[in-house]
Amino acid sequence: MSDVLVVAEHRRGELRDVSYELLTAGKELADATDGELHAAVISGPVEEYADKLDRPGVDQIHAVENGEEFNHGIYTQVAAQLANAVDAQYILAGNTVNGLDFAPALAERLGLPLVTDAVDIETDDGLSVVRELYGGKTEGTVDIDSERALLTIRPGEWPEADGTGDAAIEPFEADIDESAVRSTVTGFEEVRTGDVDISDADVLVSVGRGIEDEENIELIEELADAIGATVSASRPIVDNGWLPPDRQVGQSGKKVSPDIYIAIGISGAVQHVAGMKGSETIIAINDDPSAPIYDIADYGIVDDLFDVVPALTEQFGE
Ligand SMILES: Cc1cc2nc3c(=O)[nH]c(=O)nc-3n(C[C@H](O)[C@H](O)[C@H](O)COP(=O)(O)OP(=O)(O)OC[C@H]3O[C@@H](n4cnc5c(N)ncnc54)[C@H](O)[C@@H]3O)c2cc1C
Repeated sequence: MSDVLVVAEHRRGELRDVSYELLTAGKELADATDGELHAAVISGPVEEYADKLDRPGVDQIHAVENGEEFNHGIYTQVAAQLANAVDAQYILAGNTVNGLDFAPALAERLGLPLVTDAVDIETDDGLSVVRELYGGKTEGTVDIDSERALLTIRPGEWPEADGTGDAAIEPFEADIDESAVRSTVTGFEEVRTGDVDISDADVLVSVGRGIEDEENIELIEELADAIGATVSASRPIVDNGWLPPDRQVGQSGKKVSPDIYIAIGISGAVQHVAGMKGSETIIAINDDPSAPIYDIADYGIVDDLFDVVPALTEQFGE
């Protein structure tokens, strides 16, 4: 037993990027253990998804027709049966809303250890999983003292598998106990959106909790106007209702990759960085020189934003 099973993820008719990242992580693990790489795609147009998941290095794709969208009860049962059917040593899912929904139940069902939010995997001496601790300030390594294990991987940490493979695509008939399916997806509700798509912007001026008060957002909007940028934000600003949800950058917001990203009063928490680390040039304005945003910033102004921002607006306005 040394095979790896990854559980792909999709939503509303689209495979999510993390599915291809899971293939890369899974392949890494399968190579290190001389095993095969299996992918499971559960619910929705599974044949279409399976074709897309057929990337180099994938040995078998198991297509499981059952409903349209993610469902806790279905995923838990199918993944457990599949893991046992292919005798998977390691099972991988995304560290996402869906992955974190079913992985603990799957681990419990299979009696396996679960390590969440992996940012790296080491296989030199057994399996070790690297996780970030204290909001990304340090890293810890979890040595897995078990022959089988379940991992969730953080989105954006592995490159997406690319190219066309020659995997065997096979249907898998799961034996579903309907009495254990206790929830269903009845529909989707769009979050309130505005007319701005921050993921399209070339220059973003992003504001964080350092701005202190809703009325101070104006300072950021003035700077954005002066340089022809779009305003985005970290989550607390959106949670406070100071800017609409479509302006949020990060793991639970939008992924952006502008030419210039100016982070103002933003600490650089991992969940924020996950959404903006692909930016071409990152400029941070933060009065705390040890703020994690400076770990990824290309340029920084370590000073009070209430002095720096108006000065920049004035300068660019001229
Ligand atoms: C499941 C989950 C998902 C999440 N998703 C997201 C997400 O999508 N996006 C997101 O942003 N966060 C997300 N978060 C929240 C995230 O963990 C952080 O709490 C958040 O990013 C912090 O926002 P911030 O940097 O604006 O605030 P803080 O961490 O409070 O940082 C404020 C910064 O402003 C600086 N500052 C204060 N005053 C000044 C001043 N006068 N001048 C200059 N600098 C100043 C401080 O030094 C500090 O570094 C998520 C959290 C969880 C658990």
